[in-house]
Amino acid sequence: MHRRRFLQGAAGSGIAATLGGCVTANPSSSQLPLSPASLSLSLPELAPINAYPDRIISTNVCTRPFRATGPRIETETVGNKTLIHNYGHGGSGWSLSWGTAALAESLINADKQTPVAVVGCGAVGLTTAIQCQRAGYKVTIYAKEQPPYVRSSYATGIWSPDSRIVTLANAQPFAERWQWMARISYLRFQTLLGLAGNPVEWTTMFRLADKPFDDHGGHNIPGEPAYPNYRKELLSDLNPKARDVSPSLNPFATPHVRQFPLLMFNISAYSQYLLDLFYRSGGQIIDRTLTSMADFQQFDESVIVNCTGYGAKALLNDDSIIPVRGQTCKLMPQPEVKYGIQYFDRHTSVYPRRDGLLVQAGAEGDFNNPLANIDPQESIKAVEQLAAIMAEMK
Ligand SMILES: Cc1cc2nc3c(=O)[nH]c(=O)nc-3n(C[C@H](O)[C@H](O)[C@H](O)COP(=O)(O)OP(=O)(O)OC[C@H]3O[C@@H](n4cnc5c(N)ncnc54)[C@H](O)[C@@H]3O)c2cc1C
Repeated sequence: MHRRRFLQGAAGSGIAATLGGCVTANPSSSQLPLSPASLSLSLPELAPINAYPDRIISTNVCTRPFRATGPRIETETVGNKTLIHNYGHGGSGWSLSWGTAALAESLINADKQTPVAVVGCGAVGLTTAIQCQRAGYKVTIYAKEQPPYVRSSYATGIWSPDSRIVTLANAQPFAERWQWMARISYLRFQTLLGLAGNPVEWTTMFRLADKPFDDHGGHNIPGEPAYPNYRKELLSDLNPKARDVSPSLNPFATPHVRQFPLLMFNISAYSQYLLDLFYRSGGQIIDRTLTSMADFQQFDESVIVNCTGYGAKALLNDDSIIPVRGQTCKLMPQPEVKYGIQYFDRHTSVYPRRDGLLVQAGAEGDFNNPLANIDPQESIKAVEQLAAIMAEMK
């Protein structure tokens, strides 16, 4: 069967995922004992987080490449070149990377002797390049920047496949494609556990709330559009599950606490893993900056996959890309901290990344904000919020 038709069929028939010809699936929740509504197990030891502004070791800002209708993954013919676009993944680029890479690769309609150019070396470009290599193509990446200087390197680094990926108004037509990409990616990440340097790992999270959880799941900044809750609607069979922490065990000051396992990407180690994998498979990376559509004509390769992320806005004059600014900072690594916290009522989250405890702040005015200016006060405030959570712990 033709590969492209197979992939479309797989998406349409709801097959869990196909990776390298093997079918694998997360066990359905119906095969497992039901999760208790409240956690009755004892909680792990929660090492205190040293949340002091003078332990901030770096602060970063970057813009998410958000498109109201979802990422652009389609083929365009430019002169004698086949240009496959793969950009605009909002706040989900790392999470959906393997799925979007598989989709872009399936759009290549050429024999395996055809060299392929991938433009871009972020989360999407690297995984697309590796996916094309696995399919048998010889791949060269062309990019203005490489990790750790790409926008992807400044992300939070968690499984967030429906974060700012499409608006609620456009959710329906994109749902099937999203689900397919999310499931491919999820399963691929499970194959990347337990590697040296822990590029991908599961961590324990606590979501704190002042009011009962309404399951909207979002953490919108004022001024943002509504987004679909795809994960709840389309991936609820994936394990493991969240549990509410019972009041008698709740170590936090907020009345409502939910404990859940979260896939986390240690971006330094993970980017290096992807680069190594690409090089080991015979790939090469060439510095090149494109300034207009016409530059695609200059490539030797006849098939080019455009993974320029937010860069596509200027390169293609694509006004459908809306910048969503995000600022993070890292506190000194604390290997003994093996949990994270999300407190969306106070726009504060922390993730126990190995390369530093990653603290994310949310600010009003981040939506449609192209400014990549660091506001030190924003991160200091988030760290102080975190300090308050620590101080209030029982
Ligand atoms: C604060 C923040 C937190 C986030 N957290 C998460 C998260 O936890 N999980 C998640 O899944 N996603 C997260 N995201 C979203 C994620 O970071 C993006 O979706 C992802 O980085 C997009 O990857 P990309 O490869 O498309 O783009 P990029 O990383 O921007 O890569 C683009 C590549 O194209 C190159 N390029 C661009 N323009 C040109 C040009 N003109 N010529 C040549 N080369 C060019 C660049 O140099 C680069 O190599 C977050 C984003 C932000 C801002």
